[in-house]
Amino acid sequence: MEVIFLGTGTSQGIPIIGSTHPVCLSDDSRDKRLRVSVLVSWDDYQYVVDCGPDFRQQMLSNQISRIDGVVFTHEHADHTMGLDDIRPFFFRQGDIPIYAHKRVLQALRTRFEYIFSSENKYPGAPSVIENELTNQPFQLGNLDVIPINTFHNRLQVFGFRFRDFAYLTDVKTVEEEERLKLKGVKILVVNALRIEPHHSHFNLEEALEFIKEIQPEKAYLTHISHMLGFHAEVEKLLPKNVYLAYDNLKITI
Ligand SMILES: [Zn+2]
Repeated sequence: MEVIFLGTGTSQGIPIIGSTHPVCLSDDSRDKRLRVSVLVSWDDYQYVVDCGPDFRQQMLSNQISRIDGVVFTHEHADHTMGLDDIRPFFFRQGDIPIYAHKRVLQALRTRFEYIFSSENKYPGAPSVIENELTNQPFQLGNLDVIPINTFHNRLQVFGFRFRDFAYLTDVKTVEEEERLKLKGVKILVVNALRIEPHHSHFNLEEALEFIKEIQPEKAYLTHISHMLGFHAEVEKLLPKNVYLAYDNLKITI
């Protein structure tokens, strides 16, 4: 299995438009962060988790010419606003499967009414095949994927376990029985927004505590704000098996 971090930034990305914060002005390419997303590939399958406003750029940078579907964690704009840009995949492949909680599908139908409408469809608008996720394992290609139910303040968000790899973002709380689903995972990705606490995201301390409890072989932090600090400096402070993810990082599991 291979994972590409397509984006590792928080909702505004880094740099933030107009910001003069030192991290936003950094020359280190690892301090440039598009909105969060990963591409997960195994055998002949590849799926994107989330489809934010940088989706087009992420597909181009990584030369992705085919996707088997898009899996959504939740409906916030930084995770969904690139859906229109599935068009090149739709033109080549036909209707693109999407996977999301019922509430998220409803939000997508409202925001992208022209994609979901079946009457008088604008020629050139993409079409999707809707797959509603509940908190039960579901099939992607030849793999059973396990959803992990988490909370982003009070909003339900799905994390996903693909065999020994788990991807959680926009998490603030995870109930005990959901944590059990992560037992034995080799690579864990989890969000760490910044140093200061936040109402709907793990800060660095909470992310590290969570990783310590789950005990993966390696963990990567994502959904990073400029307020976490410079990539090179923050990484020095992390435990041995914990890394900051950065855009276009590829890992093999
Ligand atoms: Zn987000």
